[in-house]
Amino acid sequence: MRLFIAINLDDNFKSALTSMQDDLRSQHVGGNYSPIENLHITLAFIGEYPDPDDVMDALAGIDFEPFDITLDGFGNFGDLFWAGLAKTEVLSSLVKKSRHALADAGIPYDRKKFTPHITLLRKARYNKFPELKTRQTSMKVTSVSLMRSDFGKGGVRYTEVGYAKSTNKPALEIKK
Ligand code: ATP
Ligand code: MG
Repeated sequence: MRLFIAINLDDNFKSALTSMQDDLRSQHVGGNYSPIENLHITLAFIGEYPDPDDVMDALAGIDFEPFDITLDGFGNFGDLFWAGLAKTEVLSSLVKKSRHALADAGIPYDRKKFTPHITLLRKARYNKFPELKTRQTSMKVTSVSLMRSDFGKGGVRYTEVGYAKSTNKPALEIKK
């Protein structure tokens, strides 16, 4: 099965993204818009791999504290348009931890550099390159998910196979 590691987004965050998509539509940008239920952040792409339990075991070993992500900017990889995220150490660190856990378990993944983004649409068509403002939105990340990707009649579908929770440390620790 086709697997990847992702952060799934809460409804408030997703609605900020759909309003960015609406902005694009109102600027007459056509293409394959990501349906709301498909919006996510990929941390590591595994691809074809037969054993999701292996991957869950690896993921279960990672340790991270809850942290915030914030929408920031808009960009494109060719005709793929995305919403960006503020680059933070904690997000990069979660990517590193997830990828290290895979590497240590001998699970292959795409090693290309992480560019934090959420795909808004693919195969974008436009006459004039759009201008798009970021919506002011943040959310707390408290888990990282193993996702399965299946291609069907209605396009690609993602299903959560499992997730690993963040460690909940006290907000304030008194050091002696
Ligand atoms: P489709 O390929 O049908 O357009 P998709 O790209 O959303 O749909 P997948 O190819 O299964 O579906 O990818 C799942 C997730 O992994 C997406 O976020 C995608 O951008 C990302 N991804 C896919 N291939 C790679 C890769 N080689 N390296 C890094 N990320 C990838
Ligand atoms: Mg793809």
